[in-house]
Amino acid sequence: MPVENLEFKTEINQLLNLMIHSLYSHKEIFLRELLSNASDAIDKARYESLVNSEAITDTGDWKIKITADKDAGTITISDNGIGMTKEEAIAELGTIAHSGTLEFMRALKEKGDINLIGQFGVGFYSSFMVSDKVTVITKSVKAETAVKWESEAQGTFSVDDVEKPSRGTDVILHLKADEKKYLEHWELSSIVKKYSDYIEYPIVMDVEREEDSALDKGTKVKLIKEETLNSQKAIWLKDKAEITQDQYNEFYKHVSRDFTDPLTTIHFKAEGTSEFTALIYIPSQVPMDIFYEQFKIGPVLYVKRVQIMDHCEELVPKYLRFIKGVVDSSDLPLNVSREILQNNPHVSVINKNITKKVLDTLSDMKLKDYEKYKKFYAELGKVLKEGIHFDFQRRETIADLLLFRSSKTGKDIYTTLKDYVEAMAEGQEEIYYITASTYEEALHSPHLEKFNDKGYEVLFMLDEIDDIIFGYFDYKGKRMKSVIKGSFDLDKQDEKQKEEEGKRYEKLIAKIKDRLKDDVKEVRISGRLKQSPCCLVSDEGAIDPAMERMLRSMGKDVPKNLRILEINIDHQLIEALNAAIEKDEHAADASVDLLYEQALVLDGNKPKDPAAFAKRISELMLESLRRQA
Ligand code: ADP
Repeated sequence: MPVENLEFKTEINQLLNLMIHSLYSHKEIFLRELLSNASDAIDKARYESLVNSEAITDTGDWKIKITADKDAGTITISDNGIGMTKEEAIAELGTIAHSGTLEFMRALKEKGDINLIGQFGVGFYSSFMVSDKVTVITKSVKAETAVKWESEAQGTFSVDDVEKPSRGTDVILHLKADEKKYLEHWELSSIVKKYSDYIEYPIVMDVEREEDSALDKGTKVKLIKEETLNSQKAIWLKDKAEITQDQYNEFYKHVSRDFTDPLTTIHFKAEGTSEFTALIYIPSQVPMDIFYEQFKIGPVLYVKRVQIMDHCEELVPKYLRFIKGVVDSSDLPLNVSREILQNNPHVSVINKNITKKVLDTLSDMKLKDYEKYKKFYAELGKVLKEGIHFDFQRRETIADLLLFRSSKTGKDIYTTLKDYVEAMAEGQEEIYYITASTYEEALHSPHLEKFNDKGYEVLFMLDEIDDIIFGYFDYKGKRMKSVIKGSFDLDKQDEKQKEEEGKRYEKLIAKIKDRLKDDVKEVRISGRLKQSPCCLVSDEGAIDPAMERMLRSMGKDVPKNLRILEINIDHQLIEALNAAIEKDEHAADASVDLLYEQALVLDGNKPKDPAAFAKRISELMLESLRRQA
């Protein structure tokens, strides 16, 4: 086969341009990325040797080797891992667009931190920060021949068949003229210590040592010795007392590929029916892609120190999917499959234990270090509260971890359900909440007027999913109820009075109903307004408007959901409208339209016809100004 020349996928090309002209500091992280790839490749080979033992027999000597060749100006990172076939090399190193490529470039622009690269699955390309040419020679466990991949990052790469005696991959970096410091042993070994000490395979390098000759006393001889640069210790198996927070943090960065320190570290051993060790972390920042479907859930699973799976989602409930770290079990079989995991009693014991530990840690933090807890909540509260919906058994425990702002707290202060219930006003039976997209929108919503008047606190729910979570939740026997749904009678009016009022406004209501028949399903006298003339509300069981807007924006087909217009008969405007209609049926048409448009705006929507709305307001302003003149 002749050499094939291929083009990089467009976004990879853009990334390579960034890398090759990179002025970023911390260029040394290229080594971390390549060592991490080598270690992943060995994990895969080791796993393959366990489940399919004929394919790989040399299982005793897993190793990553760094070779610096000063004459050639190259460093080579070699592993005896799984290797790549030609097709894999073409796809993985050039033609498939990893979904993270563009996101990484965006994040790099925003934060200017090259350290992020590993998170986005494009770490290999960081080698071009220090090299003008990269050669990869790799032989897959599945292939007879090896392949040589090579590129100078000028838009193309080549692949060619070559000879390589053994399985695995050599990544050869032809260092740029001003990056030759990476040929020095001490430089390489200190980078390994800093970033890759925990890699569980030995990272070795040949060093030349001068020693006294054993045969000829007084003369020195040069010896080549293989030196292991990393300590390789499985940190989770060490005693807690022996581990510093710095070491915990470094390991976190290694497993999570996050570049910031974790918020909290949880390290524990369980004994008894199920034996396992867990070293798990709560991150300090919400992972970028946590709300995407492809987000990888769960800690790394080890069985008796052998890595089995990168992410074992069966080990944590989905609402704790931000947890990173490792779990090492002594009870699971080495060739554990997804089916086994789903039905394995040990797995559910581990899951239960981790869930409990994490929830306990959080309640403890809330109690003892509230500032830290608020930080956690601001980043990850939105994920945690999904548990109210999905974890029936622990919903009250989770509910007690939630923080809310309310009509009474102010913008930077939070309340809890417990505090809310304890402070409930006389005669109040339900827990009230309002959904909105911002704090200000909630605070100024007309829906709150009567509640404020009565001294009833209303919780602010500002995430789109809130109504789904809290709409069917009872906290300590108290129902949670949205103030924008259903009807309220906070004044507890008697029936006779209601009937009389109904009669007085019968004609007006009929008139508005007729005028807005395509827009609202009902018009009625409000029990929740105090200062505003009108508002829109939904039926008790209807979909929340914020949720509806979100689904629409995602392109989902949501059936048209007509709202109810409530009018405030204590308001002068409604009084005046009523009087006008008594005289002339059509006198108030324009005002009715405006009333409705106003209600839409207050609800966080656009007016139905923004141009006409603006025109009507201008006319009204003109009229009023002329009257004043
Ligand atoms: P990531 O490792 O996060 O997927 P990279 O850009 O670093 O992203 O690597 C891309 C892919 O190339 C890897 O997923 C892997 O399939 C392949 N690869 C890289 N280095 C090696 C290696 N040393 N051995 C085998 N495959 C490798």
